[in-house]
Amino acid sequence: MARVLAPIPMGAPLERCWWLREAMAHPEFVGDPAPALKGDTDADVLIIGGGYTGLWTAWQLKRAAPGIDVVVLEQSECGFGPSGRNGGFINGFYDHAETLVDLFGAAGALAIIAAAAQTVRDLAAWMDEHAVDAWFTRRGYIGVASSAAQEGAWRGTIAAAAAIGLGDRYRELSAAEVAVFVRSPVFRGGYLVADGGHLQPARLARGLRRVCMESGVRIHEHTPVSEFRAGPPAEARTPGGTVRAPQAVLGVGAWAGGWKQFRRRIVTRASFMAITAPAPGKLAEIGWTSGVGICDMRTTLRYLRTTPDGRIALGVGGARGTWDGRIGERFDGDEAGTRHAIDAIHRFFPAFRDVPIDGRWGGPIDVAGGHTPCAGTLPGGNVHYAFGYTGNGVGPSHLFGRILAARALGVENDLMRLPFVDMEPKRFPPEPLRSLGAAIANEAALRRDDALDAGRRPNPLIDFLARLPRRLGYHLGP
Ligand SMILES: Cc1cc2nc3c(=O)[nH]c(=O)nc-3n(C[C@H](O)[C@H](O)[C@H](O)COP(=O)(O)OP(=O)(O)OC[C@H]3O[C@@H](n4cnc5c(N)ncnc54)[C@H](O)[C@@H]3O)c2cc1C
Repeated sequence: MARVLAPIPMGAPLERCWWLREAMAHPEFVGDPAPALKGDTDADVLIIGGGYTGLWTAWQLKRAAPGIDVVVLEQSECGFGPSGRNGGFINGFYDHAETLVDLFGAAGALAIIAAAAQTVRDLAAWMDEHAVDAWFTRRGYIGVASSAAQEGAWRGTIAAAAAIGLGDRYRELSAAEVAVFVRSPVFRGGYLVADGGHLQPARLARGLRRVCMESGVRIHEHTPVSEFRAGPPAEARTPGGTVRAPQAVLGVGAWAGGWKQFRRRIVTRASFMAITAPAPGKLAEIGWTSGVGICDMRTTLRYLRTTPDGRIALGVGGARGTWDGRIGERFDGDEAGTRHAIDAIHRFFPAFRDVPIDGRWGGPIDVAGGHTPCAGTLPGGNVHYAFGYTGNGVGPSHLFGRILAARALGVENDLMRLPFVDMEPKRFPPEPLRSLGAAIANEAALRRDDALDAGRRPNPLIDFLARLPRRLGYHLGP
């Protein structure tokens, strides 16, 4: 039996983020207990990871083959990881048109964008059907320039989309038109994508957990897999017992960066978020009442949205990295990272300076060199995986759940022809270059963004280092 994976480095995030605390205040999101595995067991399909990828795969398996025995092993609790702590934007792939055309040509890009757009519709229907109230607000999103340097940064994407016939999905907005959606002293022009929206991520993760358990999926939380063998049968060892199954699915997200097979396919970065107390009156003052989501045009993106009770939640990308894919406590929350998020709320909306901050947290992002996730199967043919969402997994993980379930069932369908299935992603260099290079390029991108936002020309060395990943063929950075 081949041992394919080294013991898996464990991260131990410390406390539930605000989204998960909110969800767990409601019995329907607490759900039935899913105790840690005790003893050995067999299953038809073994899934590692109780985030969206693992849970959507489990649900799709049960939908396609109700009698199938599926076991999900989650080291913490479902929704504790990025699937319960993200910004909640659910966007499909419209903003990726330029990258997708570059990687897969027009036909490949169109196929992916169409499948992802369908996924947003499917997800909305699924939440209705299963009474999962995840605050889904389908008002689309706007990209805005939050400094002079960011003006027009969207034009490459819009031109690429127009070239493949999707120009009508975007509408450029003047500063006055942006102000119809939201008024900020620093927002300038931008663009609108009238598709997608945002939701409460932990409510989705916990709702998915409930629906999976109701359909007979066996979930074991607080069950870290410390050793995995592909087999067949695949075998996952945990402190309390071992699971064996002919088929296995790895839905471990950013933790894949610590697995031997995958460590050169992703680098891990943190994203940090902060959420204010409810201030619906102040939201009305700034005219942000439609529920539209917003992102700015920094390379190290800021994304922000509201909640039904009148809060602002804002996240910042491109923060901390890892050494050799290890995810530790620093990813859970970090004074500097979350301070950056709070400062951005105050800079964008000075009226919120006296609104208390109710939560601040962070989480790991699985960054792929092509800025595009991939799904595939390890050489033995029975272990399937998906990762590399690069901060855009809420919608796409639903699609990847369908792909992985079909793989585990041995079903060939149209989804298998999507070009990110079985693609060989551009690799990162081996350690220590991978971690060092990512840290340097990332710090340079942050400093470059800060200089540009402040109206300064970035230092030429910083500019060079920030642009280096793209020059080396990665779809990352400016
Ligand atoms: C702060 C932040 C903001 C984000 N904002 C957005 C956004 O607005 N929109 C968007 O589309 N995407 C966003 N993302 C990305 C999105 O959250 C992810 O792409 C998505 O959650 C990926 O789901 P997943 O199931 O693949 O991985 P995860 O949610 O990471 O789930 C993997 C699970 O595997 C478990 N696991 C790992 N190793 C083991 C092991 N050895 N044994 C057992 N269990 C294990 C982990 O505990 C985890 O629960 C954001 C991410 C972060 C961190």
